Amino acid sequence: MMFPVNMDKYGRVSVPETEGDATKKAHVAGHEAGHIVGGLLRGVRVAGAEASEYRGETRMTKTTDEERIFFGLCGMAADGILVGELRRDGSQGDLKTVRDLAGGLGMSAQDVEEALLDARDELAPHSRALAEFARALTERDSLSEQEIQNIGRAYGLVAETVRG
Ligand SMILES: [Zn+2]
Repeated sequence: MMFPVNMDKYGRVSVPETEGDATKKAHVAGHEAGHIVGGLLRGVRVAGAEASEYRGETRMTKTTDEERIFFGLCGMAADGILVGELRRDGSQGDLKTVRDLAGGLGMSAQDVEEALLDARDELAPHSRALAEFARALTERDSLSEQEIQNIGRAYGLVAETVRG
């Protein structure tokens, strides 16, 4: 089933306009889609994801601090791609985690900001996969590891071997 994807002349994809709680849920789902796609791009195990209008969660294999920073930024990066602006609100938990990790690695606030832009650039070519994960999460509330693998495979995001 195709999701009615809106794509502008810059190739940016957006989810269809909805209202109220449905909008909040779609934003949460889009944010979680970023974590999912980031995990699949790096070949880690993405064990499941959930989204409601109040909160979202994506469960994935913990890796190095550098990758955890990348994964942490991918939710905001997806907001930037799906919504068209890089928002930091609604991602306070991610930001705190990323800043704590970055501090431990000697990264400055400017380094974190650049890493966010890098994450957005890495996810941007996968905007259709982001939109599909967002659509599936909005529709089903949660995705199992198998469902994530199936969608990821359809978009060429699932590696031959999965680290775990
Ligand atoms: Zn997040």
